[in-house]
Amino acid sequence: MLSQVMDCGTLCDPSRLRGFGVAIRRARAAGGAHATDRTISSRRAERPGSTGLRDAFSKQRLFQNAWKELYPHHLEWVSLSQGGKVTSVDAADMTLVTDFDRRKAAVANVIPPQKAGRIAEAAGVADRTGWCPIDPGTFESKLVPKIHVLGDAAIAGGMPKSAFAANAQAKVCAAAIVKLLAGEQPAEPKLINNCYSVVGPDYGISIAGVYRPVDGVLTEIPGSGGVSPLDAPRSTRAQEAQFADGWFNTITNEVFG
Ligand SMILES: Cc1cc2nc3c(=O)[nH]c(=O)nc-3n(C[C@H](O)[C@H](O)[C@H](O)COP(=O)(O)OP(=O)(O)OC[C@H]3O[C@@H](n4cnc5c(N)ncnc54)[C@H](O)[C@@H]3O)c2cc1C
Repeated sequence: MLSQVMDCGTLCDPSRLRGFGVAIRRARAAGGAHATDRTISSRRAERPGSTGLRDAFSKQRLFQNAWKELYPHHLEWVSLSQGGKVTSVDAADMTLVTDFDRRKAAVANVIPPQKAGRIAEAAGVADRTGWCPIDPGTFESKLVPKIHVLGDAAIAGGMPKSAFAANAQAKVCAAAIVKLLAGEQPAEPKLINNCYSVVGPDYGISIAGVYRPVDGVLTEIPGSGGVSPLDAPRSTRAQEAQFADGWFNTITNEVFG
C-alpha cells in the first residue's frame, strides 16, 4: 500500500516551498507479519529560478517521533537527498521511479507539484511561479486590481497554505472589501494559523502562528506561535487530538452550517 503523508504545515510551507510526501508500504512476503513502508518526498518552489527541492518538512521531528512510536517497522521517510525524488510514475506497472531506484506499490498516492488553479492563470492573477501575488492587507491581486485571491492560490508570505489560514484570510478579505467599497482604508489585519495533525488515534500534534503585514509581506510575529513540545507525554498528544476534533467541528460548522 502506498499512501500520502501530508499535513497542512507540510503542504503549506509559506513564501518558500511547497511540498508533499508519499509513503509506500510493501509487504515483505504474502501474508507476512511485517511490512516495510517508504515515504518519498518531493518539493516544489514558489520562487522562480529556485530548484524548490529540499529535505525537510513542517513538524518533522514530531512526525518522525510519532511514526517511530506508533508505526515501528511500517513507515520510512526517504528524504530528497537519499533518493526520495519521484521523477516519473509508471501507472501501468504501479511503479514510482526515483533518481536512483524503481519502487513498486500496491496502492500509490502521488501528488504532483502544485500551483494555483487554471482560472487564476486565465484571469491574469498568477505570476510565473504559478501562484498569485496579493496585497497582504486586502488580498487584492497585485497584478489585476479589484480581484481578490486568498487561500492556497495566494502568495501569503510566511503564512502556511492551510484550511485554517484560508478561513482566516477569507474573513480579513471580506472585511477589507466592505471597507474599500465604502471608500475607507481597511485596518491592518492580524491572522492566525493553527494546523493540527492527528498522526494516530489519540495522538495529535500542532503548529501555530500569528501573522501581520510587514513591508508588504505577511510575516509571523516573533514569539507568537510554536509547535507541540517534542517531549510531551501521551496525555498531551491525546489532548491535542481532541483539540483537532474540536477545531474540525468548529470550522466545518462555520463554513457549511
Ligand atoms: C491531505 C491534506 C491534508 C490537509 N490537512 C489540513 C489540516 O489538517 N488543516 C488545515 O488547516 N489544512 C489542511 N490541508 C490544507 C487545506 O486543505 C487547504 O489549504 C485548503 O483546502 C485551501 O483552501 P482553498 O479554498 O484555498 O482551496 P481549495 O480547498 O483547493 O478550494 C478551491 C476550490 O475551487 C474550485 N475551483 C477551481 N477552479 C474553479 C473554477 N474554474 N470554477 C469554480 N470552482 C473552481 C476547486 O474545485 C476547489 O473546490 C490539507 C490538505 C491536504 C491535501
